[in-house]
Amino acid sequence: MEDGTLAPERVHEALPSLRAVLAGARGVRLGTHLNPDGDAIGSALGLSLWLDRLGVPHEVLCHNEPPGYLRFLPGSDRVLAEPTRPADVGIVLDLEALERLGSCRPYFEGLTRLVVIDHHIPHEAPGDLRIVSTAAPATCSILVDLLDGSDPGIDADVATCLLTGIVTDTGSFRFSNTTARCLHQAARLVELGASAAQVASECYLNRDEAAVRLLGEALHRVRTDMDGRLAWVALPAELFDRLGAKEEHTEGIVNEVLSVRTVQIAAVLRPGKNGKVKGSLRSKGDLDVAAVAREIGGGGHKNAAGVTYTGTLEEAETVIMEGLRRCLASSSSINPPA
Ligand code: 5GP
Ligand code: MN
Repeated sequence: MEDGTLAPERVHEALPSLRAVLAGARGVRLGTHLNPDGDAIGSALGLSLWLDRLGVPHEVLCHNEPPGYLRFLPGSDRVLAEPTRPADVGIVLDLEALERLGSCRPYFEGLTRLVVIDHHIPHEAPGDLRIVSTAAPATCSILVDLLDGSDPGIDADVATCLLTGIVTDTGSFRFSNTTARCLHQAARLVELGASAAQVASECYLNRDEAAVRLLGEALHRVRTDMDGRLAWVALPAELFDRLGAKEEHTEGIVNEVLSVRTVQIAAVLRPGKNGKVKGSLRSKGDLDVAAVAREIGGGGHKNAAGVTYTGTLEEAETVIMEGLRRCLASSSSINPPA
């Protein structure tokens, strides 16, 4: 790949290196990013269930518990906030910077070996074995490339975890990261025992009422600028209190804002952990919101990025919107007349 990461067709070549690290391990710690999504939990649990089959002792760590819609995943109750036993090898999934481990970061520092399995644009590039492919639509897609056909292979439970990550990170095969390869992988995972209908109903027909009420309030408050090309909403803490809504209930709101025909960049800002502000940024086409996010200390992918801003909601709104306006202003894309 141009960016120095693996082409998906070559990911499987990394399996012997991964096996060598595992063979020498006394204890393994898997970790994924805070505020985990389907790809984070799907990849961590998919690899964990595969390590069970391989007989490798390990634990799965995450700053947060899996959100409610991912509790159906086999092994979801094994996700811990802190380790209970020593380890010498760490494997972190679906993150490009160790700070994304949140409160679990210290448990991955000072280990003998650190493996990174990820599909984000490299940022800090930590780890001494990096199985990173930015062309992969999901970390779970990298795991399919790594593990399918290996011994042990992918059983029905691993397949369910991996299909969930591919479905959620591609927006159910609607986003521009959807490739022929991942569609083939999805078919393969169904062959191996995953149920596409189960993944869809657990992820999309299983929301708390507060999440839908929050969506309603959020859509009501959306503001637009630049001839409707920029749309955003800042959700104050009082709103969450009034509706009994939690941070995980904001999942998906930004995509609804982006669904307006004229909108080319959408953003949702909300209170995050420790008094910080979390911003979710989305774009269409060539507009690169990851570049905007990186300028403010965040990261992600071209069309889906995020930032965690230290300051008030109003300050975050000023800084992030300034970056997004500049991004739009420098692009040549013009909306066709309505
Ligand atoms: P989301 O908006 O769904 O939380 O995140 C979209 C993408 O941006 C994800 O790929 C995620 O890894 C990345 N991202 C979200 N928040 C942050 C952040 O605070 N820092 C960094 N570096 N990346 C983030
Ligand atoms: Mn991912």
